[in-house]
Amino acid sequence: MNQKNIEIYKILDEMHPNAGCELVHYNPFELIVAVILSAQCTDKRVNIVTEELFKEIKTPEDLVKIDRARLEEIIHPCGFYHNKAENLQKMAKSVIDLFNGQIPDNREDLMKLAGVGRKTANVVMAEAYGKNAIAVDTHVFRVSNRIGLVNEDTPEATELALMKAFDENMWSHLHHLLIFQGRYICDARKPKCDQCGLKKYCKYYKNNEKLK
Ligand code: SF4
Repeated sequence: MNQKNIEIYKILDEMHPNAGCELVHYNPFELIVAVILSAQCTDKRVNIVTEELFKEIKTPEDLVKIDRARLEEIIHPCGFYHNKAENLQKMAKSVIDLFNGQIPDNREDLMKLAGVGRKTANVVMAEAYGKNAIAVDTHVFRVSNRIGLVNEDTPEATELALMKAFDENMWSHLHHLLIFQGRYICDARKPKCDQCGLKKYCKYYKNNEKLK
């Protein structure tokens, strides 16, 4: 991998020493539930909701059995609670039907679960099973393309390009670094470039400077 990417990784690592998964979970099942709830919702709010939810729901079987109205009541603060309740119960049913109640550890099988796409599968692989994967969410997509690490139009193309651009043992942590960078520094509308150590490398920053 090229020296510039190593430098960018190092700077991101210095800027975000606590980068890591912010969804509280104690097993793969709790993680996949939290990831589904996190769509369009902050991790902080998801953690408040799951603390309540996991008192009643400990297994996929519990999730299939719980009354839909009760489930919606608990997850209501996460937003889109009708859809999320339906997705959670469909996912749990497919875990039971296809994998004997065990959350799979590989992308191909994870993506067979109802409502689980590539991004969710990558998060579960990396966080629950310690595998190397780059889940491309809105932050990873925006920040990696802004900096110029990649130049892609879709999340999947971004993931593949990042996998080529960085050594495999860096993938999972790179995913966290880019999320933290997007959440706390490189805001979608107002990036805090004055607080960012990447100015010297960042394509977006350099282009904006030229226009001034
Ligand atoms: S320099 Fe600005 S645009 Fe570039 S990564 Fe940093 S905050 Fe984002």
